[in-house]
Amino acid sequence: MKNPLLFYSTNHQAPSLPFDQALLKGQAPDRGLYMPERIPVISPERIREMKHMQYHEIAEVIIGSFLKGVIGEQELKALVKDAYNYDVPLQHVSDRKYVMRLDQGPTASFKDFAGRMMGRLMNHYLSLSGGNLLILTATSGDTGSAVANAFYGFEKIKVVVLFPVGEVTARQRKQMTTLGKNVQIIGLDAKFDDCQALVKQAFSDPDLDYLNLSSANSINIGRLIPQIVYYFYAFARLCNDSPDDGIVFSVPSGNFGDMMGGMLAKRMGLPVRKYVIATNENDEFPVFLSQGKYHKIEPSRNCISSAMNVGHPSNLARLVALYGGEMDEKGTIHRMPDMDEMRQDIFAVSASDEETRATIRSAWDKYRLLLEPHGAVGWCGLQKFLETGSPEAGPEQLCVTLETAHPAKFPEQIRDILNLDPELPPSLTGLEEKPENFDHLENDYLAFKEYLKLKY
Ligand SMILES: *Cc1c(COP(=O)(O)O)cnc(C)c1O
Repeated sequence: MKNPLLFYSTNHQAPSLPFDQALLKGQAPDRGLYMPERIPVISPERIREMKHMQYHEIAEVIIGSFLKGVIGEQELKALVKDAYNYDVPLQHVSDRKYVMRLDQGPTASFKDFAGRMMGRLMNHYLSLSGGNLLILTATSGDTGSAVANAFYGFEKIKVVVLFPVGEVTARQRKQMTTLGKNVQIIGLDAKFDDCQALVKQAFSDPDLDYLNLSSANSINIGRLIPQIVYYFYAFARLCNDSPDDGIVFSVPSGNFGDMMGGMLAKRMGLPVRKYVIATNENDEFPVFLSQGKYHKIEPSRNCISSAMNVGHPSNLARLVALYGGEMDEKGTIHRMPDMDEMRQDIFAVSASDEETRATIRSAWDKYRLLLEPHGAVGWCGLQKFLETGSPEAGPEQLCVTLETAHPAKFPEQIRDILNLDPELPPSLTGLEEKPENFDHLENDYLAFKEYLKLKY
């Protein structure tokens, strides 16, 4: 097939690759992240047509636009239909303000959207080539279970997940450790950033080449592209008849994979007036946007929105690249991005734990809107944006905030703040009775490497 879209490395020291190869590699050999050389554009008419399309049909259009020439139409159609077999509710709150609940998938996390599609795409390509993969991933809570579930039971793929023992909830842990089969879980006495560092070191270790390691973290381009879809879906469902209607999204952010999906959606033609990028107390990005100087936070701060405790977002290099700059994997900027343009598009804001708790309380009292800590950071960020009086912050402005996990995944906090027990979605019931199985390791690369060599 002719001229498939190529993906370049943000470090510019590795060859550009078509989607299937970039997907199976995960991280580029020069430690950069893959980005599309060209961004497909979806016409306004096509976007309006999405109003009446089902979620998986919209996914087929958006994902298909990046995969032309590397997957058959019928194959893609079958994969998206199989991956997106659950609801994506847009909950009305007030005026034109909505919460998009991305928490109805099998692990009740928005990471299901990316994980399920990436797993199916990898399985598709491996079954064509006859290869094997070992997926190595670090998780701050939700990625691990989404990835483990997305790959569970595939014959050609084994999964190893590292998680920081003290930073995930019991329920999050059980969603990973009760699976078994091709899924191995390792608890580390360390922080999420340490888990991520071990994974990164393993990727660049030639002694482990024989394992065919691949990443399923948000650095994989196969996770990024499916995260573009729900931005189109939300706008198409909620826009009014005016051709000038536009939207504001608020995205609770940690590793910036979610927000990068949104940024790409805008470049594809979605009329987004502003992205509110809301972080917890790990505010390295809001500080960078306002001051133009980047300092990662080491160690990352421990907040109740634990899946966003990230002191150096791995996808930041992609955002910088999108605005014409260059940042390496350590966070060093080699060329500044266009900060003025970035400030036009993005309102970055940090919410403290205290503000997050107060937001869970007020959303419930005022609207009977039940948010968990991550979604509350997003909702809090949106409220702060609406208070700025900026032209995109009027009462008639369509705004959607993303709820990235189901409140039942954080029962301790919800009980503590609201004195109620969120109802369990069907996907999370029965976990308590299942036996857990995971190995415990110290934060030491050599020990980790020996473990992998012995086991695989
Ligand atoms: C991973 C995660 C986030 C942050 O998403 P990024 O793509 O890393 O910015 C937010 N909320 C929840 C519940 C998550 O699991």
